Amino acid sequence: MDTEGIAYLVGAGPGDPGLITVRGMALLREADVVVTDRLGTERLLAECRPDAEIIDAGKAPGRVALTQDEINQTLVDQVRAGKRVVRLKGGDPFVFGRGGEEVQALLRAGLAVEVVPGITSAIGAPAYAGVPVTHRAVSTSFTVITGHEDPTKPSEQTDWDALAKIPGTLVILMGMGRLAAICARLVAGGRPPTQPVAVVQWGTTERQREVRGTLATIAEVCARQGVGSPAVTVVGDVAGLEDLDWRPPRRPLAGRRIVVTRARAQASELRDRLVALGAEVVELPVIRIVPVAGSPEIDVALDELADYDYVILTSPNGARCLLDRLADRDLDARAFERATRIVAIGPGTADALAEGGIRADIVPERFVAEGILEALESEEVSGRRVLVARAREARDTLIDGLRERDASVDVVALYDTVTETPTPEQIAAALSADTITFTASSTVTSFMALLSPEDRTKLTALRVVSIGPVTSETARDAGLTVHAQATEHTIPGLVAALLPS
Ligand code: SAH
Repeated sequence: MDTEGIAYLVGAGPGDPGLITVRGMALLREADVVVTDRLGTERLLAECRPDAEIIDAGKAPGRVALTQDEINQTLVDQVRAGKRVVRLKGGDPFVFGRGGEEVQALLRAGLAVEVVPGITSAIGAPAYAGVPVTHRAVSTSFTVITGHEDPTKPSEQTDWDALAKIPGTLVILMGMGRLAAICARLVAGGRPPTQPVAVVQWGTTERQREVRGTLATIAEVCARQGVGSPAVTVVGDVAGLEDLDWRPPRRPLAGRRIVVTRARAQASELRDRLVALGAEVVELPVIRIVPVAGSPEIDVALDELADYDYVILTSPNGARCLLDRLADRDLDARAFERATRIVAIGPGTADALAEGGIRADIVPERFVAEGILEALESEEVSGRRVLVARAREARDTLIDGLRERDASVDVVALYDTVTETPTPEQIAAALSADTITFTASSTVTSFMALLSPEDRTKLTALRVVSIGPVTSETARDAGLTVHAQATEHTIPGLVAALLPS
């Protein structure tokens, strides 16, 4: 492993998670430490390694935010400690991002740093509102300005009169609270009060809102419609162009905030599918999968693998743990006897087996324990040796059913499902979502155990969507109302149940 620490200043783009660069994403996925600001980078954090340390520079313990000096020091300390640090910054790191100061601090400390530019909101947000910052015969330049400085104060660095006189587009970041004063200043400097202005709030995100007006009217339009920070203001004739109102297609889950309670290591498929459909995903991993270590029971079963007539896997985690266990002992798919029938409870489990080169012979039509029993109805299991490899905590339906039919059943516990301990902020974020998903009974039980009595009162605002009947029953037993249940008990099935009908 590379022990040389390095910091990468990565531009996250303006908000749409698809607008980070390829290199930025690759570095983010590898980073040991990620230092973020809140604005525009939340949805990318899901890409980090599960064990990556995430430092929110926008939120210091007990205070609003780290100071710039504290951020610089954090970067220096982490790089000195040998970490690969991604400093993830909204938009482009060098556009009003104080990225320059961070690079200076790192270089002055003699440390390695690289910059990965990003798409600035100054261009990206207008683009997603159909406003090109330049346009042939309309505007041949654009100037990006901070609206942070008070245009009525003499100490200002921004020469608003000069800016008013440039014929091109003005793009103003920050300073929404000073919009009226800025517009007045530009008119006083010579821009016509009828000049078009567009304001784009939360540009490129699912929350994007935009309003149009003129230098004379825009401040009032924003006030009336409640459009405020963070927003980009575009002043110039480009803001009045027509036939440019393209828009990314509205995705079916746009505007939805959906909680994923799966173990973090297992959450990516569900998360990726939801994000692709436009949802904002709140990850609240309430469980963690811990393989059972050093169990003689498993080793005996593996030694006798070839003697089993049936090997049944009841979850993708079980399949993965079994394969890992084989690999630990320098074994692979060849450890199975050809005649052994391999049963996977559903397509996810079959896929997990396939990754280890094992094709499931039987996948039931219903992806529950009862489904396996049904699928085995036509088989002669009496007197046959059956290995059921599964979680330690699991229902006995399958085992009882097989024993009733005189099968000789061995059960091995491959993994434990343990409760995670999310922070109160993570729980609060989950409770403020509109929908919560449960992919197993254990996620329901662990989630409910995390909640305070007061948290529980907020549950009624959440739509509860479950992967199947067993999970739904656990949810109902825990006092939840289940609003939807997947018809096919798989991740794609769960996603389908989330779509508006
Ligand atoms: N480095 C960033 C800018 C940081 S300053 C960039 O290149 O985009 C913060 C300001 O950027 C906000 O006040 C707002 O004016 C603007 N901004 C950032 N993200 C935005 C977004 N998604 N939509 C509109 N404005 C945004």
